[in-house]
This record gives sequence, structure tokens and C-alpha cells, in this order.
Amino acid sequence: MPQQETAVFAPDQVSDELLALTHSLGRPERDLVILAEGNTSQQLTGGRIAVKASGSNMATATRDDFVVIDVARVTPLLTDPAATQADLTAALDAGEIGGRRRRGSIEALVHVAVQAVALAAGVADAARFVGHTHPTAVVGLLASVHAAEAYERIVYSDEAVVIGASPLYVPYAQPGIALGQTFHAALAQRVEQTGELPQLVLLGNHGIVAIAPTADGVDGISAMAVKGAQVRTAAYAVGGVAPLTDEQVTKFFARDDIAERRGNLARGTF
Ligand SMILES: [Zn+2]
Repeated sequence: MPQQETAVFAPDQVSDELLALTHSLGRPERDLVILAEGNTSQQLTGGRIAVKASGSNMATATRDDFVVIDVARVTPLLTDPAATQADLTAALDAGEIGGRRRRGSIEALVHVAVQAVALAAGVADAARFVGHTHPTAVVGLLASVHAAEAYERIVYSDEAVVIGASPLYVPYAQPGIALGQTFHAALAQRVEQTGELPQLVLLGNHGIVAIAPTADGVDGISAMAVKGAQVRTAAYAVGGVAPLTDEQVTKFFARDDIAERRGNLARGTF
């Protein structure tokens, strides 16, 4: 398959919303990313996504710092046991433009995986925007002995409203083809079980993936993930987490006003 058809340099396809989200997540005081960490993406027409290019800084990214990827053409790499890192690198290569090589982030495969799973489950609208960051507060928790169970239970009610009742935890995998495949398998299994996409995915020893219908949704989920990590870290430091019970969470979600707020979030209005 020709490389130019899997990834292309097309800055005119990068929306103001995607740029604004990227800049917002990259703001230094939020401590979500430094240097070239993190990446964002947005669904485009024709089964494509615009995703941040490798090596660019989120805080200062321009339209030239994105590439456009054809999801269906990259999707086979998610499940091919013979796929190599070199295959992925080739698939994300949009060629050399203006003397500079343009290539999707090696984490672009995570963004492709979200779209592949969402499309297969018929919930593509829930994943119009995706943001991946490495918030210090969350990575600290996900690099701790509590990583795997830290988010199994909700610790306070507003957290549940913004990120849903059950974030998905994915154990560590090396960024690149291994992470893409591990992430895809875990996300596909979750959606098969529940019929819906989780809005927050926690990557062990790595970071978070926020999935939402709008850019504001990704921004809010990312902010709430940081607050939830700070709350848990504080609770662990004073003897342990005492989470909400299943009954409390079920009753909370059954309330009309909470259902309305969750519905607004699903439509992307906070
Ligand atoms: Zn990352």
C-alpha cells in the first residue's frame, strides 16, 4: 500500500478547535505534558483523522504540526501479530515537506485504535476528539503500587459525572506498535462488554487518553483525571482510599439531574 495514502500532510484539514484543544492541554501550568509529549486528534470526513505529528510541542503547535491519517488503512496494524515498529513508522510517514520529515506521532496508533473500536461498535460520534497526555499527578499514581486498582472505584461524585463510572486501565506497553495493539485489545474488550466507550483510559506507567464528542469534553476529562489522581494520592497518603460504594454510585447515576448532566456531557456541553 503506498505510504502517501496512509498518511498525508494536509494543514488545511486541521480545525481551529483541534488547535485550541492542543494548546490548552499543552499549557505549562496544567502540567499535563512537557517538551514533545502528548498528542491530540480529531475525526475528519472520509474515515480520516488529523493527529499531531511526531516531535512537536503541544503548547506551540501549528497546523503544520499535524498529519492526516486514513484510519482503515492503518487499522490492520492493530491486530497483525507480525506487524513491526518499522511497519508503523512507514504507515505514519507523510513524506518530506519543506525540507522537514512529517510523520504522525508513534502514539498515533492509539488514536487509530479509538476510531477503529468506536466505528466497529457504532459509537463513532462519541470519539470525535481524542487527547493523550502524561499528567504528572496521574503518571505518579499509575507508576505506583496502586496503579491497577486506583481507578476501579469512584472516589467522589463529580468525578463520576465527568469521566463516567468506570475508567479503563491498560497495563504498561512500550509506546509504538506494542502499545497500540495492547490498547486496542483492551478497549475492544471493554466496548464488547459494555456497549460504550470509556471516556478515560489510564495507561500504566504512562498517561491518559481522554475520549469525547467535543474538544471541551477532552479538556474537561483531562482536568478531572488530574483532580481524581490528586484526591487518590492524598487519600493513600493518609491511610488509604475509602471509595463510594456501588450502591451510592448506582443511586447517584439514577438521579434525573445527574442523567441530564451526563447527557449534556455526551453531547459535549459542560
Ligand atoms: Zn504518551
